[in-house]
Amino acid sequence: MQSFVCPSCGDTHEGLPTDHGWKLPDVVWDIPESERAKLAKFNSDLCQFGNRFFIRCLLKLQFNEQPDYYGWGVWIEVQEQDFYRYVELYDKDGSGEPPVSGTIANSMPGYPDTLGMPVVVQFQSSTSRPAVLVPTNIGHPLALEQVAGIDNRRYHEILVATGSLGGP
Ligand SMILES: [Zn+2]
Repeated sequence: MQSFVCPSCGDTHEGLPTDHGWKLPDVVWDIPESERAKLAKFNSDLCQFGNRFFIRCLLKLQFNEQPDYYGWGVWIEVQEQDFYRYVELYDKDGSGEPPVSGTIANSMPGYPDTLGMPVVVQFQSSTSRPAVLVPTNIGHPLALEQVAGIDNRRYHEILVATGSLGGP
């Protein structure tokens, strides 16, 4: 179990989540629950809502002061053809596929709005969710964090933003 003395609050943090995910794209989550399954088709990895197509991906932010990474389990809207290519490769190795374009389908806490932000998706092996790469040219903090990694102070902020730690 990872633990660290937090520069932000001075506590020792241990056993806290190193990931945060969304069950559904925001636009589908916003449908009243009683209607949702009638209007959209979804499981934990794939979602179709009318002519909109989403896949659940993993956006990694490397920790700078401890091993491993923070993982955002975010939904990405992709083109229909790329959605079906992902379905085709679902139990195969897709890591050799060319990357596809998409947009973030969740509002991620602790950032300027991420909904609709353009990203690149790289399919992975059959056991890993597709990887999200945030283009650096848009200057969004998420892009900078993906390049530079996050320190423990920022990790604390993310834990607060996701509700895993009480706020200040
Ligand atoms: Zn802290």
